Order: sequence, then C-alpha cells, then structure tokens
Amino acid sequence: MIPLCDLTAQYESLRVEIDAAMRTVAASGHYILGPLVRKFEQEIASYCGINYAVGVGNGTDALYLALRALQIGPGDEVITTPFTFIATTEAICMTGAKPVFVDIDPRTYNMDPEQLEAAITSKTRAILPVHLYGQPCRMDVVLDVAKRHNLKVVEDCAQSLGAALTGQKTGTFGDIGCFSFFPSKNLGCFGDGGMVVTNDPELFERLEILRRHGAKVKYHHTEVGVNSRLDELQAAILSVKLPHLDEWTAARRRHAYAYNQLLDSESVVERPSEWTTAGPAIIVDETPAHADYNYCCYHQYTVLVRDRVAAQNAFDKSRIGHCVYYPVPLHLQAVHGDLGYRPGDFPNAEYVADHCLSLPMFPELLPQQRDRAASVLLESQNAISLAAA
Ligand SMILES: *Cc1c(COP(=O)(O)O)cnc(C)c1O
Repeated sequence: MIPLCDLTAQYESLRVEIDAAMRTVAASGHYILGPLVRKFEQEIASYCGINYAVGVGNGTDALYLALRALQIGPGDEVITTPFTFIATTEAICMTGAKPVFVDIDPRTYNMDPEQLEAAITSKTRAILPVHLYGQPCRMDVVLDVAKRHNLKVVEDCAQSLGAALTGQKTGTFGDIGCFSFFPSKNLGCFGDGGMVVTNDPELFERLEILRRHGAKVKYHHTEVGVNSRLDELQAAILSVKLPHLDEWTAARRRHAYAYNQLLDSESVVERPSEWTTAGPAIIVDETPAHADYNYCCYHQYTVLVRDRVAAQNAFDKSRIGHCVYYPVPLHLQAVHGDLGYRPGDFPNAEYVADHCLSLPMFPELLPQQRDRAASVLLESQNAISLAAA
C-alpha cells in the first residue's frame, strides 16, 4: 500500500514535542487568542518576510476576510482561475461579489495572466490568483495588470506556503496573502486553521477586527464581522512544525525531481524558453512544468495522463494512492450555473480537468514507493499503446 499522503508519519517524527505542546495549552487555561497564537503569527510573518499575520479559523475564511478587509462586496467582480478548489470562489461569493474567470496556462495549471486584461470591466475590483499545487503564479504580470487598472490582489496560498518566486515567498506579492493549515496542506494542524498576511497596517487592523465579531474594543461592534480565529492548541502544534517546513519542502522537491526524471522522455514539443522542461513525455503527456525562477513547494505532483482511466485502474490494482484535483472546473460547477459559462469557455482548464492525476507526494514518501508509483503509471500507458498497435 502506497498512500497518496500519509499524515501519521510526520506526527510520529515529532510526537514528543507535539504532545508536550498540547499538554502545555491544556494546562494553561488559555484557549482562544492567547500568547501562542500571537507567537505563531509572528513566526509566520517572519518566515514569509512580511510585517503582519492574523490567525483565522481556516483557509476559506482567510480568503473571505481578505476580500472583506479590502471592502469588496455586492456589485463587485473578482477575477480568478476556474481550475482551483471551490473555496476560492466560495469566498468571493460569500462577500456578495461575483467571480469572473480567465483560463489557465496548461503547462503550469495556473491562471494565465496574459488573459487578465480582456476580463476586466468597470466592476472589477480585485484579482485572486491561486498558486495551485504549490507552483507560484506569474505574479510579475498579475501585479503589473493590477497596478495599471487600480485593482487589489489577494493571493490564495492554501497550497503554497514556502513556495517562492525569484526568492520572494508567495503571499507577499499582493495586498493580502491567505494560507490554510488544513491537515493535508504542506504545514498542517490537527483540525482547521488559516492565516492572513499583509504589509499594510490598516488592513492588519481591519482583519483583526473582522475575525472577532467586528469589534476593536470588546463588546463595541462597528461592523458585521465573523467568529474566525486560529485556536491556541493548533497554534502550539504549528509552532512545533514550522521549523521543519523547509526540510519537508526540500524532500517534496527531491521526489518531484525524481518523478520528472522517471516520467520524462524525449522532448517533442517546444516550450517558451523561460519554462524549464519537465517533459513533455510521450507516454505521460506532460509532467508539471516549472519556471527556473520558481521555487515550487509541490503540494501535489500532478501529471497529465493520456489514458487516465487506465492509470487509475492500475493504481487501484497495485494499491497506490491517486486523486484527481479537480475533476470539474469551477465554471462548469452546478453552484456557479448562474454565472452563465458554457463548456468550451476555458478549454485549457477543461483539458487539464479531464487529464490530470496527482501521484503520491509527501515528505516521508520512500524513494522505492515513489519509483514504484512512476513505473505503474508508465506501464498502464504502455499497455494501452501496445493494445492499440
Ligand atoms: C484548501 C484550500 C482552500 C481552503 O482552505 P480550508 O482551510 O480548507 O478552508 C482554499 N483554496 C485552495 C486552493 C485550497 O487548496
């Protein structure tokens, strides 16, 4: 059995420290917005190289509160990618604003910022790029468009804590960066948790007010806020884990590099020069491309497979974990029917949704497990081409 992701291995490696941290919180009697949340907020801020961090209940709330802090609401439009987890557009809709999509670059699975300008209307207020699977978006282009059109930028970094673009951490490019500590994210807690980061002292103050019932002074409420706070217990656990994040990311990157070698074959398609080639393979259509200047943290290792059903069956038979993140792009989700999009509107997102498959990826994955997953994948595609020949 080779899991897609195994969360117990990490706990075992830090069991003594984590258990001690949890006992300390239990005995302290301070469970909400205590000193350990403040400490962890400062640790995340310094890890990212940013001034302020606000711990919140989860990554979805982080996005929602970021948009609220920027005064985005009914009548406004926010441009994002159709190829992401539903939380991205959920947060936009929760404010009353409307999501507007632009297609992705199929090589990186991320929003294609070259298409942004065509989607801007008089109602557009913000751009919400997602660093999907831990791969940074082209923030240089996003920021340039935002600046020229006077738009805010909120980064969905739920999958990209530790990823960087030309040495700068994701989450620090736009007005606000949003993180999730859901257990299976690269830095996960033992429940739900999230964080919002910013360099702007006014946004920081607004975020602090919004997360605790819209009150700056306790019991004096100036606006409708929410109850969304990172627990003291989760903060204690995350503080134990954070110092190990870089070594875990390095392990993920070693696995990704090995997968690239195993799944690649002779390059047959041309790529723009700024993208390093990690494929395209003949059998597996394409392994994830990443730019030289990107430090991808490989939340997932996701390939485009010619015959996905054959791959899924082969993995199931060999008891190897796999998953399709995400099978239906957001513009075709029932919940967004009112937005009026049709199949064919975003062909790259639709193509990737039909062909993508994520392989086992977590820091403690063993090299022989990874190599086995790669060879089962290759065999599943070979079997098909032999049968067809
Ligand atoms: C996980 C995730 C979120 C939401 O985070 P939660 O903590 O689960 O609410 C948002 N966006 C993306 C891209 C995610 O992967």
